[in-house]
Amino acid sequence: MNSKHEDQHFDVIVIGGGVAGSCTAIRLAQLFNSAVTTWPKIVIIDERNTNVETFKIGESLPGEAKPTLKSLGVFDAVNNDAMQGKHHFCYGNSSVWGSDDLIGTDTIFNAYGEGFHLDRLLFEETLLKIVTLQYSQFITIMRGSKVTDLYLSKDIDQRDKRWKVTFTSDEPSRTIQIHGNILIDASGRRCCIRKCLQDLKRRSFDKLLAFACLYEADCDNLSKTDLDHNTLVESCAFGWWYTSLLPNKQRIVVFHTDDDLLHQINRKIRLVEEFNEFIKESATHVAKYINEYSYRPILKRVICVPANSACLSQFAIGDSAISFDPLSSQGMLTAMSSAKLGAEAVFFQYFNGGTKIEGKLIQPLEVYQKYIENTFQKYVGEKSFFYNKEQRWKNEIFWKRRHEEHADALRENIDFTSK
Ligand SMILES: Cc1cc2nc3c(=O)[nH]c(=O)nc-3n(C[C@H](O)[C@H](O)[C@H](O)COP(=O)(O)OP(=O)(O)OC[C@H]3O[C@@H](n4cnc5c(N)ncnc54)[C@H](O)[C@@H]3O)c2cc1C
Repeated sequence: MNSKHEDQHFDVIVIGGGVAGSCTAIRLAQLFNSAVTTWPKIVIIDERNTNVETFKIGESLPGEAKPTLKSLGVFDAVNNDAMQGKHHFCYGNSSVWGSDDLIGTDTIFNAYGEGFHLDRLLFEETLLKIVTLQYSQFITIMRGSKVTDLYLSKDIDQRDKRWKVTFTSDEPSRTIQIHGNILIDASGRRCCIRKCLQDLKRRSFDKLLAFACLYEADCDNLSKTDLDHNTLVESCAFGWWYTSLLPNKQRIVVFHTDDDLLHQINRKIRLVEEFNEFIKESATHVAKYINEYSYRPILKRVICVPANSACLSQFAIGDSAISFDPLSSQGMLTAMSSAKLGAEAVFFQYFNGGTKIEGKLIQPLEVYQKYIENTFQKYVGEKSFFYNKEQRWKNEIFWKRRHEEHADALRENIDFTSK
């Protein structure tokens, strides 16, 4: 174990360099920049290396995200990329939900205007690049570094607490340990901290899975160009679909159903051919895009990722704190908002000598946790409202479950912190 990071001490350790992790670091950096204080040492650890992945699911960023992008100083970079066609602008949503009709909503009626259909990997690289270009004196980014263990060590009188984080590094292959005063988990749905701190509970509310395939327009066969920049959502008996046009003449198609209901489909939908057949059988409008624009799959296998709703309110930011059903299209926006507020809570709690309002000492981290709880409560209500609008398959288990949840949500306030 011979590394310059070995046994290094950092003031703040952020696990995960996705949207939540990089926005947390940016916001912390902004706060330290504006305050007359000594700069702390911050590290972001991410297991991904550049250019290894070719694609990441989750591409729609609504217009509502613009104020947050602006306040983090990243809007211009994202918008410029979109102007150059590296991201697409998204001008609305279309849905076949609750009836066979295709209903469209236009962002012209949205106060924030159009949103984005992002090249997601480019977006995440842009955020990390801003960290590197503007704050590299204070923020270290360790990539190709997978956290394998972490624990909170305390001295005998419990006063001196320190996080010890162990990770494996790709280049060269080795195991490294670092220390830190504050730990922020931004590791997404994997929620590293929960696995390491056994008594920390992350409550999961359902077993939703997402099956995604990426398509490319067959340019040799193109009689017309796909210019539909709306996100299309289409429900079926066993779950629901969405599709969006991406840069580089690509289109993503995603199907959602519960893990234990896969057998109902009677198809091996991880196989691309079977996935294509299933589109034709169950999603007329999605199938139309595939046929009309001669889309062919780029991936050899359909990707399957968890898409369930889950919540944990301590030490965590982004999906690690609250994971949403993709129907909400709010995951990245919430990841950015929680990153901003989480960073502010850490700053005011640990680096700014506490905060007093009307003479009363406020615990910023408690305020942050309350925000997470309230955001999740609001989301649960909205999610059940939208699922309840689809009644065509009310006797199918997928829909029954969600309608029951709606009835429960109306009856009581859900306590999501108990196990
Ligand atoms: C099917 C699907 C579709 C979606 N569509 C949308 C959409 O259209 N719009 C939207 O806003 N949201 C969407 N989302 C949600 C959105 O993708 C997430 O909310 C968002 O990615 C959360 O960002 P994050 O930074 O918290 O987590 P992540 O993006 O998951 O980032 C976590 C980071 O942590 C790193 N990491 C994990 N474990 C370790 C470890 N042990 N050591 C080191 N690093 C680690 C990972 O490499 C990753 O870079 C969708 C989600 C799904 C499942």
